[in-house]
Amino acid sequence: MARRNVARSTEIPNGGMKQITVGSTDVLLVRVDGRVAAYGAHCPHYGAPLAEGTLEGSRLLCPWHQAVFDVRDGDLLEPPALDCLAAYPCGEADDQIWVELPADPSPSHRPRMASRQPGEDRKIAVVGAGAAGFAAAQELRRAGFAGSLVLIGAEADAPYDRPNLSKAYLSGEAPPEWLPLRPPEFYDEADIERRVARVEAVGVTERTVRFGDGTSETYDGLILATGAEPRRLDVPGADLGSVFTLRSLRDAERIAAAAEDAQRAVVVGASFIGMEVASSLRERGIDQVTVVAPEEIPFARLLGEVVGRAVLALHEQHGVSFHLGTTVERFDGDDRVRSVTLADGKRLEADLVVVGVGVTPRTRMVEGADIAQDGGINVDARLLVADGVYTAGDIARFPDPWTGASVRIEHWRVALQQGQTAARNLLGAERSYRRVPFFWTRQHGTSIGVVGHAAGFDAVRIHGRPQEMDFVAYLLSNGRVHGAVAAGRGDRLAAFHEMLQRGDLPSASIAD
Ligand code: FAD
Repeated sequence: MARRNVARSTEIPNGGMKQITVGSTDVLLVRVDGRVAAYGAHCPHYGAPLAEGTLEGSRLLCPWHQAVFDVRDGDLLEPPALDCLAAYPCGEADDQIWVELPADPSPSHRPRMASRQPGEDRKIAVVGAGAAGFAAAQELRRAGFAGSLVLIGAEADAPYDRPNLSKAYLSGEAPPEWLPLRPPEFYDEADIERRVARVEAVGVTERTVRFGDGTSETYDGLILATGAEPRRLDVPGADLGSVFTLRSLRDAERIAAAAEDAQRAVVVGASFIGMEVASSLRERGIDQVTVVAPEEIPFARLLGEVVGRAVLALHEQHGVSFHLGTTVERFDGDDRVRSVTLADGKRLEADLVVVGVGVTPRTRMVEGADIAQDGGINVDARLLVADGVYTAGDIARFPDPWTGASVRIEHWRVALQQGQTAARNLLGAERSYRRVPFFWTRQHGTSIGVVGHAAGFDAVRIHGRPQEMDFVAYLLSNGRVHGAVAAGRGDRLAAFHEMLQRGDLPSASIAD
């Protein structure tokens, strides 16, 4: 396509952005340091309009899930996006901005990656092919690793979008094709061998991996990223048919199949997974969805009482019932579950049950590492387990960069970020992990984002209208802001994200 004038220069001031359409292609115009540039207009993660994001210097934060791009060249800086923005030729003449699109413009492109080269004999294995494992493998190639690279995972499916399982996939909105992080040919092109196998043991001192078939292999470098597994309830009937937990695509398929002809579902646990499942089962058309949980207000401990009550009200408006302040005493049934008896004596009829009561890190197979009481692997700021062995994701217990406290964070984006850091450090970067935690949830069509890690806050300052799901709430501890929660105010979350990125925990005055 020839050059086309698309906007007047004055329409894009310094630090400004605008989405325009050229032919049938959405283009983002943005100006930093006086220079105008043109990129694919949508986030490669879930298609968010980037013009509605936040520009902080040359960092552009996606308005939906905080992916970050460098608007000087379109490079990907932070997940959950995995690709860079396509940059289109663009310039200015006679106070007009022109753009020149290729014949078939693609909105994004994969990061440049190395592939295996003769003479490079090093062998690296990534154990666990979820978020952290996938990100580590991609980052190793992105950083130029040209040796042999194997991504080992127990699931037959190639790495997929796990957060979607309890959201659009379970509600029936997302077809299975949405789930893979990359198409099958990606692994060939990036020279990443995908090995579907269960690892029985990992010896971190010798860097040896023993497989289920009895064979073992020694590597020059290892990244451990085996994630977590759902806890089960220790009550009678917990192993009856149609009592499910949700971690894998197979689990989600089983729940969706059971939901086909179910009228009554009981969800045990009012955590993010439990509440997302309740929302998705209602969206699927199940008449009676009941949540049972010991807390009186869902999310109060994590997000504060006011936000917790607002989320509870949102669910009630959408027909979800609650039995709070109680627990499950037993499940009864025959070939499958038929009822749930609660500690307060109530009995709920059930065609299916989903238990979402937390997870345990999968580290039983790891030998020779410093395993914490909760099952996480204690590591230093570099995510180092032992010489040539790093870890990432749900199993990593690492020092919080802002407080120094030992933390383990079960977030998708953190797993991706840590996979990247572990990969770079395995190649010798010696970086301390210092990335801002971000988490999101989607319930009854409302997205709530959380930035920071605010365990044990002592005050909450709220702006906006939580009951209308239009608010930002700051979580404070000892006069410092540790976290921010928002619905409908992505700009405030992005601003807080960038404050944390730049420095220390901000003082309480930013929450005024
Ligand atoms: P995983 O993604 O679990 O990957 C670990 C992989 O290792 C698995 O594929 C597993 O099969 C494999 N593995 C384990 N043991 C072995 C073995 N012995 N041998 C071989 N392979 C092995 N986070 C958010 O931030 N936002 C959300 O909205 C959100 N929603 C979620 C919804 C659901 C239903 C679930 C389950 C989680 C959600 N999370 C969300 C959390 C997020 O998915 C996790 O924090 C993230 O997946 C952790 O990544 P990981 O790589 O550490 O573990």
